[in-house]
Amino acid sequence: MAGNWKMYKTPAETAAFFEAFRPLVATAGHCEIVICPPFIDLPAAVASVHGTSIRVGAQNLYWAKEGAFTGEVSGPMICAAGATHVIVGHSERRQYFGETDETVLRRTLAALDAGLTPIVCVGELLEHREAGRTESVLCEQCVKSIAGLDERQFAQIVIAYEPVWAIGTGKTATPQIAAEAHGVIRREMAKRYGNGPAADVRILYGGSVKPDNVKSLMAQDEIDGVLVGGASLDAKSFAAIVNFTS
Ligand code: PEP
Repeated sequence: MAGNWKMYKTPAETAAFFEAFRPLVATAGHCEIVICPPFIDLPAAVASVHGTSIRVGAQNLYWAKEGAFTGEVSGPMICAAGATHVIVGHSERRQYFGETDETVLRRTLAALDAGLTPIVCVGELLEHREAGRTESVLCEQCVKSIAGLDERQFAQIVIAYEPVWAIGTGKTATPQIAAEAHGVIRREMAKRYGNGPAADVRILYGGSVKPDNVKSLMAQDEIDGVLVGGASLDAKSFAAIVNFTS
């Protein structure tokens, strides 16, 4: 169960979130919990989760280890800050910051090289879905941004299916739509890595996940977890999502 805070919260607000969140998920042993705050909040988040099983991730990374790349942050730096995960290729990065499948692959390789678990995002636009192109778009994204990994690398990533029309819009994909898309991704990955690794890779659904729809999404065999934006900013709401079984 992963939270993407996007560009929200200061270090003080981060510490306050975890004060409230930690006790609410203290007995949640059924899943891994990862929160991805802005870079500036990583130290506060890492300090706040010390001694718990909650993990911290970044929202992006640059592929060089260091150098004259003003404004960028590398995998080894994120790792040194105590984070274990990093989101790669979020649709907002693709839409506003020129991210392409090719750069997603470079960042994913850099994340793995640094020992981070990349959460690689794919997903179709509304116009793709309306034109009946969802499957071909997802397959193309998977081939270009993931299939360049070798078998060992593939076994270490998490994939997030995030239909762009469902992000921050309040429109959740139905559990069936999400499960079908996850099936498309798994079948495409099976062509490259075989049935076993494709069945094992964890695929998260993301797009307007809330406490009241998480249960029906998680009831789908194809859905291994969720990547949550807006609803992960509030401790009670994200804890309710994490504790969906209770
Ligand atoms: C996201 O930012 O990855 C996301 C899924 O956002 P939201 O849950 O707000 O739709």
